[in-house]
Amino acid sequence: MSGRLDEMVTAVAAELMGGTAVNAAAVSERVLADLTKRLSVDVCFLRYNDHDIRATRLIAEWPPREPVQPDPIGLVYFADADPIFARAEYLKEPDVLRPEPANADYQRRIEEGTAVPETSLACVPLLSGDLTTGTLGFVKFGDREWLPEELTALQAVATLFAQLQARITAEEKLHYLAEHDDLTGLVNRSALIGHLDARLAAGRPGPVAVLFFDLDRLKAVNDYLGHGAGDAFLVSFANRLVAQAGPDAICARLGGDEFVVVPAEPMTLEEAHDFGRRMRVDLHSPEVIAGETLMRTVSIGVAAGEPGSGVSSSDLLRRADQALLTAKKGGGNNAAAFSVDLERAFDLRHDVELHLGEVIQHDPGALVVHYLPEVDMRTGEIVATEALVRWQHPTRGLLLPGAFIGIAESINLAGELGRLVMRAACREFSGWLADGMPPDVVLNVNVSPVQLVTDGFVDTVASTLDEFGLDGSMICLEITESVVVQDGDASRITLNGLKDVGVRIAIDDFGTGYSVLSHLKNLPVDILKIDKGFVLELGENDSDFAIVRATVALADSFGLDVVAEGVETPAAALTLLELGCHRAQGYLFSRPVDGPAMRRLLANGQLPLDFSTPAERHRAQLKGGRRRWLPRRVLRAPHF
Ligand code: C2E
Ligand code: MG
Ligand code: MG
Repeated sequence: MSGRLDEMVTAVAAELMGGTAVNAAAVSERVLADLTKRLSVDVCFLRYNDHDIRATRLIAEWPPREPVQPDPIGLVYFADADPIFARAEYLKEPDVLRPEPANADYQRRIEEGTAVPETSLACVPLLSGDLTTGTLGFVKFGDREWLPEELTALQAVATLFAQLQARITAEEKLHYLAEHDDLTGLVNRSALIGHLDARLAAGRPGPVAVLFFDLDRLKAVNDYLGHGAGDAFLVSFANRLVAQAGPDAICARLGGDEFVVVPAEPMTLEEAHDFGRRMRVDLHSPEVIAGETLMRTVSIGVAAGEPGSGVSSSDLLRRADQALLTAKKGGGNNAAAFSVDLERAFDLRHDVELHLGEVIQHDPGALVVHYLPEVDMRTGEIVATEALVRWQHPTRGLLLPGAFIGIAESINLAGELGRLVMRAACREFSGWLADGMPPDVVLNVNVSPVQLVTDGFVDTVASTLDEFGLDGSMICLEITESVVVQDGDASRITLNGLKDVGVRIAIDDFGTGYSVLSHLKNLPVDILKIDKGFVLELGENDSDFAIVRATVALADSFGLDVVAEGVETPAAALTLLELGCHRAQGYLFSRPVDGPAMRRLLANGQLPLDFSTPAERHRAQLKGGRRRWLPRRVLRAPHF
């Protein structure tokens, strides 16, 4: 090869080395411009073969042409190409073409695209192994002779172009892999965030909706049919999702059985919610996988945000995820929309998760105990007082246990929290005793299921009683029904241990868990507390009446005491008395009060009872008559 040609190849190599997927077209064009000069030809072009669609595509050319629409030499299918173009599909060696009648078709196409009537052409294949991946073309208007050493040099140039092409293909593949999920081919989380960021940019049309999908109980498919079947189901689900979301929607798989759809068109939250509901129904169709007909329901959480409003991609995804959790909580197969209330609830949960441990460790005084009296409805006498924990939160005010007990249980703090409440309540209670409270009043303390099955719980109770000089009989521990069923053996051992310490055991919220009638026989339980759900409307609701009557009868036959929770109305109180349930708690008698207020109630010993309705009270006042403290029916009761 002559020095001139050597130099040409070296120059091309140097230029192409810097080529990437982004600048490949521009770099190629520069090289082609250089080659045009060095070879004194009129046009150079670079084409890639697309073997999937059997076509050749123009990638770069020099000099630039006036744009022609459609460009007859842009994308050329081999099937309808003239023989010269068609040869490029499998060309292995340089091909030289001079103006002659045999090439008339080719000349005509070139003339259409370039307005040049007669050309000569050298075509050099780009090769990758056995595959012809493209062609480099050198066109001279009129005739030109190509020397063998020129063609050899051009083969070297073509090899350099083929290398760049391979590099770009690899780069694009990596890029694809980085943005897509292997299994389903949907975009992955990071690509989704990229798309969402772009959609949420100020000035873009909105609102932008996000639908978060989660398959219900996919685990069962994996467990019983194997992961292959689970994967096949996910792929088919992904395909159905894409089909329903529309061609321009972004469909992503975030991993596992979590999918996200961002519809292409703007949607309000309500519209997106409707869209989600429709998709839920449509996605719930049977699918045959591994010879089994599978049908999975899907839960959907929906959120929407306005571009430029400051809402970020991760905000939107988090909101949709929160809505999804709500949809799941309701048993799945549901679409739920994000709401501000929901966000508040999650906020609170997050706050509690983050800070409760710290409060228990370093600021236990923020956890205060309030007390709810239990009265004998025949006399108004306070027979017990239930310790109910509250959290005096620095910014949220007084938090009720519903806001943090469940979380404490889920993050393993129930034991510590329980110990703290028990000690605080016992300390206060022993103070009241010292102040002359009647010694037969009982302190009720709620116990988390987790505490009950924790090693050493019985010892902790015993030593706390010891420390504050309390007798076991002064304490009643309230446990829930479910724990007795779920951890039967462990809890039986603990309960028996507690019996040895002498404390009483009440089953709290009786009637809401599983029926433990069979267990009751074998357990050292003393009291059933009828859940307030059956008591609140007692006197108006027939089925509640039947349940309460059955519970009282049941307690009676097992020799248990029974206490009603949630007595709010005189009607409920009177009905309970009629059914033989004398002991009760509820707003009719007192709301939960703080320690000093409880002390005052106990000093009095009794709560005033008035079971007349407001209308009756009003009439009595008009007559100037006395208040009716107790109903006649009760006054006639034999034990009064
Ligand atoms: P619970 O043990 O069944 O306590 C009774 C709940 O019903 C209390 O709610 C009380 O304020 C409420 N209540 C009482 N009378 C009425 C009424 O007439 N109407 C209505 N609507 N409600 C009434 P609170 O204080 O929010 O406690 C909720 C639950 O939190 C308790 O239910 C108990 O299960 C749990 N809890 C409270 N303190 C503790 C604790 O220290 N440890 C554990 N593990 N759980 C606790
Ligand atoms: Mg309770
Ligand atoms: Mg209860």
